[in-house]
Amino acid sequence: MAITIKSNREIELMREAGRLLALVHEEMGQFIRPGVSTKEIDELGEKVIRSFGCEPNFLNYNGFPASVCVSVNDEVVHGIPNKNRILQEGDIVSLDAGLIYKGYHSDAARTYGVGQISPEAQKLIDETRNSFFEGIKMAKPGNRLFDISNAIDAYISQFGYGIVRDLVGHGIGTRLHEDPQIPNFRQLRRGPKIQAGMTFAIEPMINMGRADVEWLDDDWTVVAEDGLPSAHYENTILITDGEPEILTLI
Ligand code: MG
Repeated sequence: MAITIKSNREIELMREAGRLLALVHEEMGQFIRPGVSTKEIDELGEKVIRSFGCEPNFLNYNGFPASVCVSVNDEVVHGIPNKNRILQEGDIVSLDAGLIYKGYHSDAARTYGVGQISPEAQKLIDETRNSFFEGIKMAKPGNRLFDISNAIDAYISQFGYGIVRDLVGHGIGTRLHEDPQIPNFRQLRRGPKIQAGMTFAIEPMINMGRADVEWLDDDWTVVAEDGLPSAHYENTILITDGEPEILTLI
């Protein structure tokens, strides 16, 4: 399938979808503290999304039972919110959420420390975020898609972390997941040409230990096989003639 190029009208709608999602993340981020359940985070996220007149795009996506993926410690992504799962001091928690505004999707993720966390966990969170910014330095016309993947890999590799290979970034627009797939690890080819008007969700998922993951029996929650912590950082971006525009940051 071809990578869609968004019109100016579509770009305006994507910008608004992104801006509103940034606000959702801001509210959820401020809510994170020891004693909060992962279900309460989901409920807050859904409430804020709906208060903007938007729909949560994760809810019922392939049957996912919530609006926000809440993944704690060794959970990489797709954690199912649960009222009995209570955040503890020293945990790290990844929140992945998205919304639909007038038919256009946004998608973003953040990892937060709960209370005081170890320096090692903080470094994992920081470098995962930094790898996103290293990757999108390549996200401009004249480059190719996997230049982004290779830049993320080159940056992360210096820390000895494991880059998750089973899940990747993606195109986004009138659907949550559009072509192309955007791996966070080194590719042999450089991939398709990057063009202005493309919109991507770039989302490094980085394990403190090995890259291997497995799925829990709930068929959703992806965990690091070695049980070590994992971090996730994602934004929806727009390719322009110059630097990329990060739509889900304000
Ligand atoms: Mg995504």
